Amino acid sequence: MILIMLGPPGAGKGTQATRLTERRGLVQLSTGDMLRAAVREGSDISRQAKAIMDRGELVPNDIVVSIIAARIDEPDCAGGFILDGFPRNVPQAEALDAMLARKRRALDVVILLEVDEEKLLERIETRAKETGGARADDNAETLRRRIEVYRKETAPLLPFYEKQGKLRRLDGMQDIDAVTAAIDEVLDAIESGER
Ligand code: AMP
Repeated sequence: MILIMLGPPGAGKGTQATRLTERRGLVQLSTGDMLRAAVREGSDISRQAKAIMDRGELVPNDIVVSIIAARIDEPDCAGGFILDGFPRNVPQAEALDAMLARKRRALDVVILLEVDEEKLLERIETRAKETGGARADDNAETLRRRIEVYRKETAPLLPFYEKQGKLRRLDGMQDIDAVTAAIDEVLDAIESGER
């Protein structure tokens, strides 16, 4: 099973992806986590990436595409994976389709967590408090920028995946367990072959 978790910042993509790894034995591939790890390790890409991430903008496509291409070649991804935070624009989605086609694999489904964007700021503020400000990009100004970037760059993925017949829209405003149950239902239907 190869799936994408899609939705604006704070929609709960990471939370739900983590739950899926526990329940379904899928690997979670979060480009945000990978980039933050690279920043901590002080690798070459980190110098460019950190400033961009702190502003809430997108790191260049070639960087994230090569990170994902290398990662999905690793043996633990053979059984399937969840993309969390990737792709974030149409060129990244096209690059993903091409890399999967080369491996004779295909995307199963794209799960969109729809949320009330007014509520996102509240969620991010809560996260900033809970994590003690662990993420430099969890603040109101950066969040506004991240939502703008989502609308402009990432939202075009909705018609892109709708055309492929792969988009499933779920209500991300329900409580966490209800969202997990809705995702389970979608994945169970796919696994049993009834699309
Ligand atoms: P996230 O943890 O998914 O919210 O990502 C945090 C930040 O990492 C984003 O605001 C971007 O600056 C960067 N980032 C994560 N994934 C991508 C991606 N697929 N393309 C470009 N930048 C990304």
